[in-house]
Amino acid sequence: MKPRLVVIGNGMAPGRALETLFEAAPDAYEVIIFNAEPRVNYNRIMLSPVLSGEQSFDDIIIHGDGWYEEHNITLHRGARVTQIDREAKTVTSAAGITESYDKLIIATGSNPFIIPCPGHKLHGVLAYRDLDDVEKMIEFSNKENSSAVVIGGGLLGLEAAAGLKMQGMDVTVLHLMPTLMERQLDPSAGYLLEKELSSRGIKIMTKANTKEIVGTDCVEAVLLEDGTRLKADMVVMAVGIRPSVELAKEAGLDTGRGIQVSSNMQTSDPDIYSVGECVEFEGNVYGLVAPLYEQARVLGMHLAGEADHAFAHSETSTKLKVTGVDLFSAGDFAEGENREEIVFRDAARGIYKRLVLEEDRLIGAVLYGETADGAWFFQKIKEGAPIASEDRENLIFGQSFSGAAPLDPTAAVAALPDDAEICGCNGVSKGKIVSAIEKEGLKDLAGVRSCTKASASCGTCTGLVESLLAYTLGDEFGGTKVTVCGCTDLGPGDVRRLIVAKELKSIPAIMQELGWKTSGGCAKCRPALNYYLIATWPGEYVDDQQSRFINERVHANIQKDGTYSVVPRAWGGLTTSKELRAIADVVDKFEIPTVKYTGGQRIDLLGVKKDDLPAVWKDLNNAGMVSGHAYAKGLRTVKTCVGTDWCRFGTQDSTGLGVKLEKLMWGSWSPAKVKLAVSGCPRNCAESTCKDIGVVCVDSGYELHFGGAAGMHIQGTQILCKVETEEEAIEYCAALLQAYREQGWYLERIYKWADRVGYDTIRSMIADDEEGRKAFYQRFLHSQQFAQDDPWAQRASQGVDAHEFAPLTLEPAE
Ligand SMILES: Cc1cc2nc3c(=O)[nH]c(=O)nc-3n(C[C@H](O)[C@H](O)[C@H](O)COP(=O)(O)OP(=O)(O)OC[C@H]3O[C@@H](n4cnc5c(N)ncnc54)[C@H](O)[C@@H]3O)c2cc1C
Ligand code: SF4
Repeated sequence: MKPRLVVIGNGMAPGRALETLFEAAPDAYEVIIFNAEPRVNYNRIMLSPVLSGEQSFDDIIIHGDGWYEEHNITLHRGARVTQIDREAKTVTSAAGITESYDKLIIATGSNPFIIPCPGHKLHGVLAYRDLDDVEKMIEFSNKENSSAVVIGGGLLGLEAAAGLKMQGMDVTVLHLMPTLMERQLDPSAGYLLEKELSSRGIKIMTKANTKEIVGTDCVEAVLLEDGTRLKADMVVMAVGIRPSVELAKEAGLDTGRGIQVSSNMQTSDPDIYSVGECVEFEGNVYGLVAPLYEQARVLGMHLAGEADHAFAHSETSTKLKVTGVDLFSAGDFAEGENREEIVFRDAARGIYKRLVLEEDRLIGAVLYGETADGAWFFQKIKEGAPIASEDRENLIFGQSFSGAAPLDPTAAVAALPDDAEICGCNGVSKGKIVSAIEKEGLKDLAGVRSCTKASASCGTCTGLVESLLAYTLGDEFGGTKVTVCGCTDLGPGDVRRLIVAKELKSIPAIMQELGWKTSGGCAKCRPALNYYLIATWPGEYVDDQQSRFINERVHANIQKDGTYSVVPRAWGGLTTSKELRAIADVVDKFEIPTVKYTGGQRIDLLGVKKDDLPAVWKDLNNAGMVSGHAYAKGLRTVKTCVGTDWCRFGTQDSTGLGVKLEKLMWGSWSPAKVKLAVSGCPRNCAESTCKDIGVVCVDSGYELHFGGAAGMHIQGTQILCKVETEEEAIEYCAALLQAYREQGWYLERIYKWADRVGYDTIRSMIADDEEGRKAFYQRFLHSQQFAQDDPWAQRASQGVDAHEFAPLTLEPAE
């Protein structure tokens, strides 16, 4: 029989310890875990994005059910251990589950501290520690006009405040000290942070001492010592944590502030280990993940029988995970006699940096507004090596400028030592990433993410991980990183991610914040950025016409002789005698030389003069026709066959479905053109299997296809899935289109997007994940509210962009 390893607590630290153990000695123990929370192990540090609505719980799960099954782990969920019997070597939960152990790990984490002021037990007073807290906060935020008071202006309190604000609450932060996050930031950086949060509508009250929480059963208000009364439906206490030691103490283990452990994580009982926030090592307790993961690695190796690993105290660094606020702090930056400081301020850009040196060694760093060099400074603090006097001058400008000439990003990562931390969220070092790339034959970011978890959480280290891929693989790394254009070193994926993360809502904001190398961009990046903004902020971002190509600016296709072609929309390829008559009249009136059917069942009027365009559109609009967007990086046509209406073989109403799809999707902008087709049976007369999205009706319902192409590149579609009803077909197709709109790179067709992210990934996003699919669909519907304006009508009758169509006139100079 295998020895039994029992773990109390299912948090981040023991999770990592077990990973290390399973890697080194997969079958050494029978593992049993007790978790007071009723769920699997998740990334607690990503609760803030869940609170703000930027991520879901599924996104932050570290070990899903499959992991426990794979390793034969018994997980007792919702089972709080209340007793450890060291004599009998058993642990027992509140509900009476008892398990015996050969080795025991106590990993009970911390308890949030609740200020025992009057009213602290009222309904609506919450801590910020686990998913239950987040769910309760979201519940409160759903009430109309609800307000929250967050007590504590530290890392956690501010993340809670920002999340609640994003959920639409009225939020006030109360902080006892004069500036925010005073333990991590100096007053200048604290001031900048306060200014930034205030500009987002979060009220900050410093030097504010809570006297009482007022209410009968539920929270109604918060009363301060100075008599101020603040209305509140909810109070979040984020004033600190205490290692959870009660259980260990009752079992007679040595405890101080935390459970005391040796450098191999053994407690005063050699069969009992402890790891994580509940631990005290050489008088230190820890509240950040990086050192806990190091403890976990040591423990995992020790349990696997490799005893030559020892935990040693080291510095920690902090980042605030509030999207759009860049803040980094590491080491000690208090003022002192032998200390010198180097400060850099750029008020206009809101950048502040401060380095603290003692005896020529870097001991502390605070960066606000520009934090790219955080990891590099942190490494220097940990190394403690003297800074050469000639390097001091450039030190504050970071890695690129230290040593005068800017380093290329690959040389910069090459210079980092193996133990340099690359991903702070998951505690992954350079050495681990490089060895995973080499040993596992990884070729891209996705591979590194799934194998090491680096860059899989908040993503701020993505650039560094990509540089490591380039450094390790050389030319093999996708022929070097794809960038949007020569104006930036960032790839389209990074730009899309940062637009969301930093809430960038205009082209100048993107260029400023993401360090564009040109002042106004170029013909390649401007249309791309314009599209990313439209797709990311529907209803908020106003389309920048000047950032579009000529066809999209004038809403018609320019032809080789400088004339234009006009294609009125014919829903699902249907038309009427009234429309045909109006088209014939327009052809006569404007002497349009050519009328032709397109491959998408539409009528193309070729040879229209540019200054006639508004008048042509006006006449077509008057007959009820709108732009066919035949020029657009957006939905073009939905081709249909005649289906059950007329055909002997038709199994469903393919024409009707085509019309519905087109009416739903018209006007939507996408990374590249999008064409659809609906065929009434597998004879496939609408050629659905070479379209971006194709529907083939079958007896039992609808077969959905995607990823076809029939231009310069020809390829058949692949099957997405089969659905039974027309409503489902519409929902799935729109969700697929929205996923492409959100993830595609500008000018990347659906088939290229699918090649990049994987056809199976798309299937699992749309076909297998009902909740995810519905969310894509809802976002599509939301976006369409702002998209379905006929550009022809605006220009034909409402005078929009009249200058585009007016003949050029030259006026004499006076
Ligand atoms: C909102 C939030 C944001 C954070 N952000 C960051 C950040 O940006 N960077 C960073 O480095 N760190 C951050 N942290 C801190 C980080 O999450 C913790 O340091 C880390 O999770 C501690 O890991 P742990 O395994 O020791 O404890 P935890 O992950 O807290 O796990 C403890 C587990 O033990 C269970 N448990 C407790 N008592 C018992 C019992 N008697 N029986 C059974 N189960 C029990 C609990 O239910 C819990 O699931 C954040 C924490 C929070 C709450
Ligand atoms: S695809 Fe089938 S239903 Fe449609 S026209 Fe062709 S044979 Fe008829």
